[in-house]
Amino acid sequence: MAFLEISHLEKSFGSNRVVKDFNLDVEKGEFISLLGPSGCGKTTVLRMVAGFEHPSTGVIRIGGADVVGKRPNQRNIGMVFQAYALFPNLTVAQNVGFGLKIKGMAKAAIDARVAEMLALIGLPDLGARYPFQLSGGQQQRVALARALAPKPQVLLLDEPLSALDAKVRVSLRTEIRAIQRDLGITTIFVTHDQEEALSISDRIVVMNGGIADQVGSPFEIYNRPTTRFVANFVGQINAFEAEVDVASEGRVRMAGVPVQLAGPVSGSRVTLATRPEALHLGRTAGKDVVLPATVTEVHFLGSVIRLRADVAGVSVALDTFNRADQPPPAIGAPVELSLSSRDLIVLGA
Ligand code: ATP
Repeated sequence: MAFLEISHLEKSFGSNRVVKDFNLDVEKGEFISLLGPSGCGKTTVLRMVAGFEHPSTGVIRIGGADVVGKRPNQRNIGMVFQAYALFPNLTVAQNVGFGLKIKGMAKAAIDARVAEMLALIGLPDLGARYPFQLSGGQQQRVALARALAPKPQVLLLDEPLSALDAKVRVSLRTEIRAIQRDLGITTIFVTHDQEEALSISDRIVVMNGGIADQVGSPFEIYNRPTTRFVANFVGQINAFEAEVDVASEGRVRMAGVPVQLAGPVSGSRVTLATRPEALHLGRTAGKDVVLPATVTEVHFLGSVIRLRADVAGVSVALDTFNRADQPPPAIGAPVELSLSSRDLIVLGA
């Protein structure tokens, strides 16, 4: 049995169904991201787990116990929001100790736990400050410490990094993940930032229109997207409409070039997708598909060169590593692009 089980969860606001048959099993200690565009229902799922929103139907179990009828403070959950949401009139230490005081913990025990939490978030000396005297990143660390202080069984993070500038966002996400691993706390993290989700998660749930489109490890989601939406939303793809020659044998033609796929396909056309780094400039050993192309754009980014090329009317992106002994091709140059048919993502018609 999973530690956190969400089964057939639905939520409608009036006639607007914003979460549809959402199912997810989260193992103890797992870090799960809910990733999707604005309005796809991520926050609504999180709020139902927290108890701030009541499901229209469905079951949420934590440690085997159904929590749907329980109030938020009966669920033993810690939550961090996008806006810092610290109490402005309380010091950092009072903010972190707030949940413990509510629980009736003795002052000495609160002080000890607060000190432990401030050390955990790397701010051991800032207990006497007020929130307005902290940077955004520090405020979010305090919010994390406040959420963790009562030892919740589940941690919910609702876009906790999105109000921070890019550099702080990256360092704080690394820190959150390290603390989460250290404590072994089961965590659900909401984000619309694909790089963030890829870098931080054990598994990602890609949501689209209230539905969990695909659930998998970052590696699976990126390399083996099962829907066109996931392929497009996570990373960049080049999509080719291929004609099917022999469906049962997986023989197709992509930009007019015969390609042997690993397995059978159905229908008379399929979409074949590649990631930019799966395309190679020139013929390469072991790459069984060679596509004639014309270079249309060259972006020298330093360690990586991003090219665009026209392949039989399809504009494709291709990433290649810089090599000091090999200048990038010129715009307008005829080139060959090679790829391994094993790296093609078959997305159906
Ligand atoms: P974002 O990243 O923009 O926060 P999200 O994926 O978290 O998006 P939700 O906040 O879960 O999306 O909202 C999903 C849909 O439900 C949206 O269309 C939103 O307008 C609607 N919605 C959310 N809360 C309510 C509410 N209390 N009353 C009515 N509609 C709501």
